[in-house]
Amino acid sequence: MISAQQKNTADRPWLDPDAKPQIVIENINKTFGAFTAVDNVNLRIYKGEMFALVGASGCGKTTLLRMLAGFAEPSGGRIMIEDADMTKVPPHERPVNMMFQSYALFPHMSVEQNVGYGLRRMALDGAARTKRVQEALEMVQLGQLAKRKPHQLSGGQRQRVALARALIRRPKVLLLDEPLSALDKKLREQTQFELMNIQYQVGITFVFVTHDQDEAMALATRIAVMNRGQVVQVGTPSEIYEFPQSRFVADFVGTTNLFEGTVECAEPGLVTVRCPETGCDLFVDDIGRFDRGQRVWLALRPEKIRLTKEPVSGERTNQVKGMVWELGYLGNRSTYRIKTESGKIVTVFAQNDRRTSEWSIDWSDEVYLSWTANSAVLLQQ
Ligand code: ATP
Repeated sequence: MISAQQKNTADRPWLDPDAKPQIVIENINKTFGAFTAVDNVNLRIYKGEMFALVGASGCGKTTLLRMLAGFAEPSGGRIMIEDADMTKVPPHERPVNMMFQSYALFPHMSVEQNVGYGLRRMALDGAARTKRVQEALEMVQLGQLAKRKPHQLSGGQRQRVALARALIRRPKVLLLDEPLSALDKKLREQTQFELMNIQYQVGITFVFVTHDQDEAMALATRIAVMNRGQVVQVGTPSEIYEFPQSRFVADFVGTTNLFEGTVECAEPGLVTVRCPETGCDLFVDDIGRFDRGQRVWLALRPEKIRLTKEPVSGERTNQVKGMVWELGYLGNRSTYRIKTESGKIVTVFAQNDRRTSEWSIDWSDEVYLSWTANSAVLLQQ
């Protein structure tokens, strides 16, 4: 997410062909025996980015982060930070720092001692050291708790101590391994905003690993989606969500309905797809190049579908008949699982902007699913 503050000064260097990336990851590989954990990854990350690595468990994201930190040696390729080749540079000599998932705080040390520990390799006199610790604690709003021990802090406060300790050396890049996973859902959401504000204040590039897509969507300037050691798509959260380039990404990020079909007609801007799963042709606005007879998949997000009891009319509107098969009430919204006449189950999210008693669509009702031609994305793979 980009805050209003960031948006005003918006600079999106990845769109500028002349902008110089701060981190260049070039053809990086990591093998463990015959197994390839990271497979020829290329990434360019720009100064001040909040860059997320996401993917299913075991896809290689932590291994890639560890290679950036210097804790794992690449089997091939190189990593450059500000034009310096990092490949052979030991971790403590890199302009990076890493914040671990477990926070790794020392239980016997106070908050300020834990934070000050980050300065141990720096030749600073006592006064300068104290000042740096105070500044770091103020930044994460823990000035009042400097004398406490980690066990006297909440989960969110411990996370901030770890963050202050990781930032105190003022690294150029901070690597974060699942930075919020130790927190419960409510605290995680609140801490996401704190993390964004701190990152904005310090202006340091953050590269973080998460398996939580919502967290990546909320925090990241850009996201790299990984699958089996490879980066399969890089983009802003909205690009990844609205314009996935493959079924894997469409399915991995958020919930999606996929309809398989063949291209019946491809006119400029409008593709007609013959789709046995819906029993009718579907229309998609698409600027991609498609050929008649080509196998394609139409990806449609559940919130883009309108659910009505009566058919709706409209040019370029897709409409499919079905029956309410399952219904889940989630407070602010409901999830409907609609069975179409062909037996395909389609997921629909509907906002509950009225009270339950006023719901008009219930179990076993006959319904119409409709969506406009510009609501879906057509995928070739
Ligand atoms: P998770 O979300 O579960 O932490 P991940 O995407 O971070 O997963 P990695 O920890 O990078 O995944 O691991 C990628 C793959 O490499 C996994 O299959 C893992 O078993 C394997 N792997 C990691 N470290 C080693 C090692 N030291 N020796 C052998 N295989 C390893």
